[in-house]
Amino acid sequence: MTIDHTAATAHALSLPATLTRPRVSRLTAQLAAAPTANYTTTCAPYTGEPLADLPVSTPADVEDVFARARRAQARWALVSLEERRRILLRFHDLVLERQDEGLDLMQAENGKTRRDAFLEITDIAITARYYARTAAALLAPKRRRGAIPVLTHTTELRHPKGVVTVISPWNYPLSMAAGDAIPALMAGNAVVQKPDTQTALTALWALELMREAGLPKDLWQMVIGRGSSIGDALMAGADYMMFTGSTASGRRIAAGAGERLIGASLELGGKNAMVVLEDADIDKAAAGAVAACFPSAGQLCVSIERLYVAEEIRDEFVAAFVERTRKLRLGAAYDFSVDVGSLTNSAQLETVTAHIADAVAKGATVLAGGHARPDLGPLFHEPTILTDVTPEMTLFAHETFGPVVSIYPYRDVEEAIAMANATPYGLNASVWSRNGARGRSVAARLHAGTVNVNDAFAAAWGSIDAPMGGMGDSGLGRRHGADGLLEYTEVQTVAHQRLQGFAPPRGVSYERWSRILTLALRALRRLGTH
Ligand code: NAP
Repeated sequence: MTIDHTAATAHALSLPATLTRPRVSRLTAQLAAAPTANYTTTCAPYTGEPLADLPVSTPADVEDVFARARRAQARWALVSLEERRRILLRFHDLVLERQDEGLDLMQAENGKTRRDAFLEITDIAITARYYARTAAALLAPKRRRGAIPVLTHTTELRHPKGVVTVISPWNYPLSMAAGDAIPALMAGNAVVQKPDTQTALTALWALELMREAGLPKDLWQMVIGRGSSIGDALMAGADYMMFTGSTASGRRIAAGAGERLIGASLELGGKNAMVVLEDADIDKAAAGAVAACFPSAGQLCVSIERLYVAEEIRDEFVAAFVERTRKLRLGAAYDFSVDVGSLTNSAQLETVTAHIADAVAKGATVLAGGHARPDLGPLFHEPTILTDVTPEMTLFAHETFGPVVSIYPYRDVEEAIAMANATPYGLNASVWSRNGARGRSVAARLHAGTVNVNDAFAAAWGSIDAPMGGMGDSGLGRRHGADGLLEYTEVQTVAHQRLQGFAPPRGVSYERWSRILTLALRALRRLGTH
């Protein structure tokens, strides 16, 4: 089969005009590194051409960053929520106003399409607005039922954790970098962040805008360097760890956080399933499958890699899905003309090609795609649909994190649910049915932190008021909603006991006191109070 790629080929592209050398230098100057730092060079995935030279931080630099962050945090904790809100809303406006710069950076560093990059712009605007508007109520002291009615005045307080380390990956360089820093800052913390080196410029762009919006300088700082070099220092200084990346790295971070007895939120890998029920609208489900499997060339933690289709509609669904996939425009362009972009690094391309080769060698059938596309650029790969996939094949159970999906037929819905749940992961899932109530009831039986009915992932991800995160090997903790803010706080209970305490009043024996309390407990039970 051939894939239509009417978009401009990558080799004809040069970097966008916004990415001048002085502009890149201004962004990288924000990195916290010693003047004697070693530099590392990133390359643009579309073409392989050099993109930026970035100063690499050492463990000593990181220690210094934490010391400054701690001082800045002590001042920030005293800044009113109203002032924090104003800064976030200014940041929101700047992100929208200057979106072209951000879109160019995301595309240049990650290789994704402008459409996929634009979703990150909207995501960050939504996140900034949401926490700007909800944080004051979420962080306000809450009255709680006291130990003795009326006499115990009990309040729950929320304090910032202190300095939060955020480690963010390259696949959604704006969403993952700024999306977690925003609630941490709003809750009164300082943030020390290690964005992935490949996409550090995008994270630095968000930092620049936040500083322009009025965020004090040392409150949000960034360093780059390999986890193996500065990972220990990033753990040693943290009061809380927010990590997004693979499950293997997440386990190491969890072990470090456990050793230090600090909290950690881990947003990890997945092998997400989509279930197409026999009553689904086939055309919409096929379009939904395209949207589910190939955004950011499949390098999306919530994208779909396993597709379970009711046997009775399998042929019709597969035909519609394959047809739509073959029409996708694959290529590089700094405009909205392209459907699927490039992979980001050569390791991803190797994984994708190895997974497909292994599956094909063991008997899988390629229904669409299947090949790398060096004619378009060094890291392009066709959106690929496989069938006849069996458990011996690597991609049956392992995350590919690329534009590859396997289709499996099923006989009845119980079998579909069992197959969808037969994985240690549990990040995201999707169910398609014309019957909304049925779709939701199947959704509730899937082992995944988010499940979308008649949508791929945007419905749940975009519902910023609701928590988002993984079950099982897909992680711990939740971003978005109240959870996504409160995880960056330390909760404290202040209970003020007035008049009568817990000991018997003067002149009352313990025996009499115990009888009085027993009567009181029975009365409370009869009154139906808690
Ligand atoms: P990775 O190997 O775990 O690395 C992710 C980032 O974390 C890299 O920048 C890496 O830096 C850094 N890192 C890893 N271990 C570290 C440590 N001990 N200390 C400090 N930094 C450390 O993951 P990846 O393969 O690049 O990213 C893709 C994975 O992320 C996929 O599995 C995907 O599903 C997952 N992901 C999950 C979500 C979610 O929300 N659940 C979102 C996006 C991506 P170095 O490589 O320089 O060491």
